[in-house]
Amino acid sequence: MPRVAVVGRPLASHREGMPSRRSTWTRRGLLAAAVPAGALLATRYTMSNQPARSLTSPRAIDRILRPPGLHWVGDGFRVAGYFSAIADAVRKLDPFLMLDYHPTYAYPPSERPRGVGVHPHRGFETVTIAFQGSVAHHDSTGAGGIIGPGDVQWMTAASGILHKEYHEAAFSRRGGPFQMAQLWVNLPRAHKMAPPRYQPIVTDQIGVATLPDGAGTVRVIAGAFDGVRGPAQTFTPIELFDVRLARGGQVELGVPGHHNGAVLVMAGEIAINGAPAKADDFVLLGQGGDRLDVVASADTQLLVMAGEPIGEPVVQHGPFVMNTRREIAQAFDDYQRGAFGHLAD
Ligand code: MN
Repeated sequence: MPRVAVVGRPLASHREGMPSRRSTWTRRGLLAAAVPAGALLATRYTMSNQPARSLTSPRAIDRILRPPGLHWVGDGFRVAGYFSAIADAVRKLDPFLMLDYHPTYAYPPSERPRGVGVHPHRGFETVTIAFQGSVAHHDSTGAGGIIGPGDVQWMTAASGILHKEYHEAAFSRRGGPFQMAQLWVNLPRAHKMAPPRYQPIVTDQIGVATLPDGAGTVRVIAGAFDGVRGPAQTFTPIELFDVRLARGGQVELGVPGHHNGAVLVMAGEIAINGAPAKADDFVLLGQGGDRLDVVASADTQLLVMAGEPIGEPVVQHGPFVMNTRREIAQAFDDYQRGAFGHLAD
């Protein structure tokens, strides 16, 4: 199949490991790619709906949310759920369904690991990003593992799994600061009943773009920045960046104009397209424009998420996210008859 045939079919291009039609979407990235790989650039241009001239208008900021109250998930995760504070988050943040952010909190030592016992998921992906502390995951496919600072677990629940998430045993015994984020990424109808998949992404696999003049770094978990591609395989085009800026540092981030997105300020203080935001603020991107100009006035860490909207009906009931109520009822039936497999707590 010629490459151009995948235009408009990002699912195919992702599954086949082909370059995303928007794999290079910063101005600097486009310029850098032009020199070593003119032919490739031509291909990317053919596949891209984002000519360079369009990467020059600042993205509108829809609003900046102060952190909502914290709530516990199980007894191990003290999180802020930003999406629930946004009316119409389902549309404005499509393909993302939920962000549970666990700001830094020091746990006392415990012999019994804190966490969340066995629970099901169907129809989407959970992406867990560890910043401090360690989490052990297990699921009913037999997959599992431990993620520590800098690591990411990209779990595709799809047709259904049972899952449990606890502080890792040694961390639990030791206690100490814990900081994590879990992002739920929806799946398109065509992939909701795909086999579950587990991508353990350790920190060494995550490419780092170093910004000029000591401004900071961009760790690319998914998508691409300045020629660095993220290791995560995704079903729809997603950008997920862990950005660190030194005080006074600046970065220009491209976000495709038709992608929904947001920026979580994990630490520090910024101006983003001129709007001020500080630690624990959640910056919801509006429509229009495709560039984020970020200036840090303190040492800063950002989690940047953006993605192509799936544009399908979303029917969610707890840990099941499908397109119709009938499919939710089916998920309950399947769960209750044991079709999600077995997992000991
Ligand atoms: Mn889970």
